[in-house]
Amino acid sequence: MKISQLFNKSKTVFSFEVFPPKKDSPVETVYNALEEMADLNPAFISVTYSAGGTGGAKESTTLLASHVKNKLGIETCAHLTCLNSTAGDIRALLKDLTGHKIENILALRGDRPAAEVESGVPLVKEFSYASDLVRFINVQGLEFCVAGACCPEGHPESEDMISDVLNLKKKVDAGADFLVSQMFFDNSKFYEFKERLRLADITVPVSAGIMPVTNKRQFERMIMLSGASLPAKFTQTFSRFEDRPEALADAGIAYAIDQIIDLISSGVDGIHLYTMNKPAVARKITESVRSLL
Ligand code: FAD
Repeated sequence: MKISQLFNKSKTVFSFEVFPPKKDSPVETVYNALEEMADLNPAFISVTYSAGGTGGAKESTTLLASHVKNKLGIETCAHLTCLNSTAGDIRALLKDLTGHKIENILALRGDRPAAEVESGVPLVKEFSYASDLVRFINVQGLEFCVAGACCPEGHPESEDMISDVLNLKKKVDAGADFLVSQMFFDNSKFYEFKERLRLADITVPVSAGIMPVTNKRQFERMIMLSGASLPAKFTQTFSRFEDRPEALADAGIAYAIDQIIDLISSGVDGIHLYTMNKPAVARKITESVRSLL
């Protein structure tokens, strides 16, 4: 089923994101986690894509997404990046996805390799932006539902929020059927973003990306890497419990639930939970908000 058909005003589309096993990790761990998550009956489970590096082989995205759809009976969305791919590479991947009856793709640019950022010289060959990939997929006549990413607080490479939203408009005009947001911890940033989308006449559904932060390492990485604003309520809670792992996990889950309740109450189109492949966390959150969905 095409995920775009799931969005309607009366129900919040509640979905999960998982990543394929790292190259040196046993695949069973992820398959077991997926089985537990499928029990929670999310609207769909998306599977991230790594064009190389440590994030697992790119083929594993298709295999995992196929498992979600064809073995576990849950709708899926395969992520796909384009930055250093050729049109031929992408065509082959699309053929593979079609062969596995996968109907939904989250079309992304991918992060620019460090070498490219340092040299300032783009290595880009055929695709420069996610909108190029969205357009390319849509002209293949393969009938995919194509989603795009969005950043409520602006993409780190963007000069300002306005140009970022205007670029997002290009992606939607290229045929993105819905959007999935980068994580954020301050809901007011998401509401301000929705207002900018309205002004730019971007009307496709937007799923809000929620990341439950459940351990100290994740918290520290969040401070270092994420461009997301960390409200005082967030940093205070985590500083208070940073040396008590169980309390920290409970606080992180409670924080995510609080965000989700506020978003659902405001009529958000969807919630996309970055599960970090942790079914117990996904379960606690899902069970706490199920009746609201
Ligand atoms: P784009 O939409 O192309 O935007 C990138 C930058 O280019 C922005 O600053 C934008 O304003 C600018 N831009 C866009 N179009 C134009 C234009 N026409 N002219 C000038 N500037 C333009 N990465 C992975 O490697 N694998 C994954 O599975 C993955 N999943 C993700 C899922 C979500 C929900 C999100 C939010 C991100 C994910 N990422 C993933 C990370 C993503 O690849 C990076 O954020 C990447 O840096 C940008 O990707 P994008 O698709 O948003 O790019």
